[in-house]
Amino acid sequence: MKVVVIGGGPAGMISAYFGAKLGNEVILVEKNEKLGKKLYITGKGRCNVTNDCDVDEFLSNVVSNPRFLNGAARRFPPEKFMDFLEEKQQLKVERGNRVYPSSDKASDITKALENHLKDVGVEVRLNEEVKEICAENGNVNAVITSKESIDCDRVIVCTGGISYPSTGSTGDGYIFAKSFGHKVVQPVAALCGIELKGSFFKPLQGVSLKNVELTAYQGDKKLFSQFGEMLFTHFGISGPIVLTTSSYINRLDLKTVKLSLDLKPALSEEQLDARILRDFEKYKNKLVRNSLDDLLLKSLIPVVIETSGIDGDKKNSEFSKADRKKLATAIKNLTMYPSSLRSVEEGIITSGGVDVSEINPKTMESKLVNGLYFAGEVLDVDALTGGFNITVAACTAYCAGNAQMIK
Ligand SMILES: Cc1cc2nc3c(=O)[nH]c(=O)nc-3n(C[C@H](O)[C@H](O)[C@H](O)COP(=O)(O)OP(=O)(O)OC[C@H]3O[C@@H](n4cnc5c(N)ncnc54)[C@H](O)[C@@H]3O)c2cc1C
Repeated sequence: MKVVVIGGGPAGMISAYFGAKLGNEVILVEKNEKLGKKLYITGKGRCNVTNDCDVDEFLSNVVSNPRFLNGAARRFPPEKFMDFLEEKQQLKVERGNRVYPSSDKASDITKALENHLKDVGVEVRLNEEVKEICAENGNVNAVITSKESIDCDRVIVCTGGISYPSTGSTGDGYIFAKSFGHKVVQPVAALCGIELKGSFFKPLQGVSLKNVELTAYQGDKKLFSQFGEMLFTHFGISGPIVLTTSSYINRLDLKTVKLSLDLKPALSEEQLDARILRDFEKYKNKLVRNSLDDLLLKSLIPVVIETSGIDGDKKNSEFSKADRKKLATAIKNLTMYPSSLRSVEEGIITSGGVDVSEINPKTMESKLVNGLYFAGEVLDVDALTGGFNITVAACTAYCAGNAQMIK
């Protein structure tokens, strides 16, 4: 069989490899001048390529459509993906089971995949863009590129999402999918910064916080909570726990969402009150705004005082229990209202994409057109940070590449 794979990111390279390994003639078409342009910038140039965890943990880090991914994740779990990469490139495991190339160079992951492609004789065509996929009587039969028309029996669409479009992921796969009547779930940013209403955060720009807990609510319903690091920016908030939170609120009406920041999650309200009393004793007769330096970052003090509604210019000896309660509440529940997320182009990944209800989860084949497959970020599947998104690309690509074995 002749297979055309569109896109030379991880999903494209992996599906091309497994397709060719089965004996198919595989052509990989990439519009950039090189393969893996996005891979190159992953993991801050080090590429957190996967996570050394079991399948259940992998799936628990998939935000959209983990059930769809269940079979693919079991057929090509992180362990197998690591074995596959280690045939060509030594790996190492770091904090949080994050897996990187031992060289710390993302380009070495692309090299490893390129070497795999060479072994099985995949024809790689660079600087060539697929413009259209053709089908006759419900069967794929050709692709038209910027250079020529290529007859084929199968097409695997691995064009990625629409985030970081300068890497080549410009949403072409959505257009191909729609041209065959596929539904495309509205692409939105995931793993991105959150813009906030108001201006209370402006003086905090550049302040980074460690060991804090961010909780998202819709109405009274707690959606998600995470402990870790974050930072204030010119637009609102960003950093690890904010990126994760964005993936859980990006499909909601943000008018209904509230964020609560606990600046002292290790202390209960009672413990915090005792701590405040101790500090007031230490800084006896000082103003409240000058009594909190041991407890809070200096830049946070005016913000906390302002949001608590207390008078920071009172002497701490004049402070009532009720005032202290207001202070503790503001420290444990600094409320923020998101106005929007950063643009989808800025998201680390795109959430949304080809609706998986129209895709066979065993083979990644379209249920609408024979011989048309989708793998990687073009699908409506997205995961959290930790190496899980490349792992999504890898396991869906494995299934698409090996589809012939299943049919
Ligand atoms: C800054 C950043 C850091 C990241 N870090 C990590 C990380 O450390 N770990 C992790 O797991 N994930 C990370 N990700 C996410 C990860 O990079 C993606 O999920 C992954 O690359 C998706 O793979 P893919 O093959 O589906 O798509 P892509 O890697 O986007 O590849 C798609 C390819 O298709 C090509 N293409 C598109 N349209 C056409 C066309 N019409 N014709 C020909 N070619 C076409 C594009 O040029 C591109 O090369 C990061 C993303 C970003 C932006």
